[in-house]
Amino acid sequence: MDKIIRIALDGPSGSGKSTIAKRLSNKLNILYLDTGAMYRATAIKALSLGIDTLDEQGVMTFINDIDLTVKYVDGAQRTILDGVDVSEKIREPHVSMAASNISSLKCVRLKMVEMQRKIAGETSCVLDGRDIGSYVLPNADYKFYITASVEVRADRRFKELTLKGHKVDFEELKKEIEQRDYNDKTRDFAPLTKAFDAIEIDTSFMTIEQVIGKVLSVIGE
Ligand code: C5P
Repeated sequence: MDKIIRIALDGPSGSGKSTIAKRLSNKLNILYLDTGAMYRATAIKALSLGIDTLDEQGVMTFINDIDLTVKYVDGAQRTILDGVDVSEKIREPHVSMAASNISSLKCVRLKMVEMQRKIAGETSCVLDGRDIGSYVLPNADYKFYITASVEVRADRRFKELTLKGHKVDFEELKKEIEQRDYNDKTRDFAPLTKAFDAIEIDTSFMTIEQVIGKVLSVIGE
C-alpha cells in the first residue's frame, strides 16, 4: 500500500490557500479538506437556531450532536448540514464574520478538530485552515504557511465576491479581513500561527503557478 501523506496549509483569509490546496489535491490525486467550510457551516447552524455565534453556552447546546459531513462530488468538497448541501450558502459574505466568531469557541474547535483528524487519519490529504500544522496534524508530512499582504488579500476577495454578483465595499472588506486576522491570531485556543517547522510562502506577488511550483519542489514530487 502507498504511504499516506498529509499536507498542512495554513494562513490568513485570502492568502490563496484554498486555490493552492485544490490544485495540489488534483495534481497529487489526494483528498482536499477545506476546514474553513466546516466552521462556516457551524456558524450557519447557530444562526438558523437564533444563537449568537459568540454565545458559548448556546453553541454548546448543539455542537456535540451537529449533523455535519463533507462528501466529494467529482473530486469537489460538498458541505452537508442537517442533510442539506450548504456549499454555496457558506460563501455568503455575512457568514465569514460569523464563522470567524464561532471558531474562537473552544467547544467548537474541539468538535471540528475531532472530525478533521478522523478524515485525515484514513487517507492521504491536503488540509487548509489556520491551525492544521500547529494543532490538528502536528505530524503532517509537509507544512506550509501561506500569506500575502492585507491589500492583496482584500483585493482578491473583492474580485471573487464581485464576480459572484455581491455588492461589496473594498475598504469594508479590508477592515473585515483585518478583524478576522486579529480574531484568528489572538484567540486563546489553537490560534492562527506558523508552525515552527512550516515553510512560509508570501504569495502577494506570485502567480498560482509559481506557488504550486514552489510547493511541489518542496514535496519533491
Ligand atoms: O478559510 P475560511 O475563510 O473559509 O474560514 C472561515 C473562518 O473559519 C476563518 O475566518 C477562521 O476564523 C475559521 N477557521 C479556523 N480554523 C480553521 C479554518 C477556519 O479558525 N482550521
